[in-house]
Amino acid sequence: MVCENAAPIISNGPIFERMNEKNLSSTKTYSAVPDFDAIVVGSGFGGIYAVHKLRELGFSVQLFERGSDIGGTWYWNRYPGARCDAPSLQYSYQFSEELQQQWEWPETYSTQGEILKYLDHVVERFGLRSAMQFNTSVESAVYDEEKNLWTIRTDRGTTLTARYCILATGCLSTKNTPDFPGLSDYTGEWFHTSNWPHEGTDFTGKTVGIIGTGSTGIQAIPVLAEQARHLKVFQRTPQYSTPARNGPMDKADEARIKAEYAAFRARNYRQPVAMDITIDRSAPKTFEVSESERRQTYEQCWENGGLSFSVAFRDSSVNRDANEDVSQFIREKIAEIVKDPVTARALQPSHIYACKRPCLDTNYFETYNRPNVTLVDVSENGVERLTQKGIFANGEEHELDCIVFATGFDAFTGSLNLIDIRGRGQLRLKDKWSLGPRSYLGLQSADFPNLFTVTGPGSPSVLANMVTAIEQHVNWIGGCLDHMRERGYATVEALQSAEDQWVEQVRMAAERTLFTACDNWYQGANVPGKPRGFVPYVDWPGYVRICESVVEKTYEGFKFS
Ligand code: NAP
Repeated sequence: MVCENAAPIISNGPIFERMNEKNLSSTKTYSAVPDFDAIVVGSGFGGIYAVHKLRELGFSVQLFERGSDIGGTWYWNRYPGARCDAPSLQYSYQFSEELQQQWEWPETYSTQGEILKYLDHVVERFGLRSAMQFNTSVESAVYDEEKNLWTIRTDRGTTLTARYCILATGCLSTKNTPDFPGLSDYTGEWFHTSNWPHEGTDFTGKTVGIIGTGSTGIQAIPVLAEQARHLKVFQRTPQYSTPARNGPMDKADEARIKAEYAAFRARNYRQPVAMDITIDRSAPKTFEVSESERRQTYEQCWENGGLSFSVAFRDSSVNRDANEDVSQFIREKIAEIVKDPVTARALQPSHIYACKRPCLDTNYFETYNRPNVTLVDVSENGVERLTQKGIFANGEEHELDCIVFATGFDAFTGSLNLIDIRGRGQLRLKDKWSLGPRSYLGLQSADFPNLFTVTGPGSPSVLANMVTAIEQHVNWIGGCLDHMRERGYATVEALQSAEDQWVEQVRMAAERTLFTACDNWYQGANVPGKPRGFVPYVDWPGYVRICESVVEKTYEGFKFS
């Protein structure tokens, strides 16, 4: 740890800069009084918890949100079939024992609506709404070196200052709408799944086209097929998907977990993806067991549903042959389910299993047996263009009343890049990250003092239970601000050397896996022109240990002043 110019700002009070300002009126550098201790951007799981945590620690907080209400990605993604594919008893906050005991989830995997209901309850229960301003986009966040303040400007003309700026803008918040030629010619209605109309949609009697067969498309397709007169699925790359086995909450299961919720959470906290899908480290590797035993294990995973395939054997995600064994089993299942052999073949993926984020579904492959569903395999030439009446692909015009784009997100950096963020010397974060994001622990970037990202690029984020990852980050940030207040520090900033080492560590961790062996959004491959590089840190348990050790070593790699 480097500790420069330990400024004599000592405070025990909640809004410590304001309190100390009177005492330090002669101190030129840090004399400015901020409007708030912290400004938080985004009101998803991250922003909501950040407001709660910082208030609990006695800091004053203002949150800005571009939507008209809370929810973040769960506010925007209202497409038919939208639900979480992590079990709700785990994809939920653990900071309050009362909350986790009292809240009842109706299903194993919750719908988007249930998740919003839950978040609304959290916000009301902990009185957080008063800190939130909606329908407000943050346009810029600029660091004033002399005053050591962040100035935040919004699209409503508001300008506020804060000592700390906490960006909880989400990893999957900014939509990716490919620049399809002819889009403006199309006269039918079109929707992006991540900006779905709040009033809902009615596809009854309509011919609908959907582009995109990732997690979102795979959730939406079975539901759209039930509504539409005819559904045409334009598939560029087939996906591995396995049954979610969702259903009404198993009350016995819920009671078992709630009987020892804290211990259950504590155990999962150290699991590979911060969830209860324990990899048994003593479990065999794929080819240490016979073919029939392997088959039995895979069948069991298929029956169990959820993410159990990723942990069928302990080498499935690192050994190509082992991975191919799992992949082949799933392909065979697809061939068994889908009756038309040509469609079945087109639905069988050839890439490495779980290299693209694996999907969970309810009746996805079964949907292709419906007479009103057609798969249009565009793997060779893609969607060539949109026309006035529909989509032109494979040398043919497909007339469509509506088109649904399930084309994903400009992940990790998309929402951050929408804000003009400037640190020391007016350095733009977007410019600094022009070849890819650079951070220390996904928490801070050098030259941007007192600016934090919640589940930012370089942290495990999407490779762990997101809610747990968010709580871990916010707790870490809260602890850091508390540490600063106790010692009278005015700024915290990642050291350049720590950042450089961390960027390399993130790259090397990914290289040890099969994640880099295909095109995926983890590396920015889904957005044309986006710099390529693996963004999240692979190894949640290791990451947690590193963060703890950084604190134990008095914030090693950070500089306080
Ligand atoms: P995605 O995984 O990026 O999938 C986008 C789909 O659109 C892919 O099939 C892609 O094909 C296709 N596509 C993109 N551009 C295209 C083009 N120009 N022409 C034709 N096809 C095109 O996005 P997503 O399905 O929205 O999922 C993103 C992530 O969100 C998931 O991986 C998951 O982490 C998260 N998510 C989570 C849940 C949940 O339940 N928790 C639900 C939904 C999403 P290619 O594969 O060929 O690029």
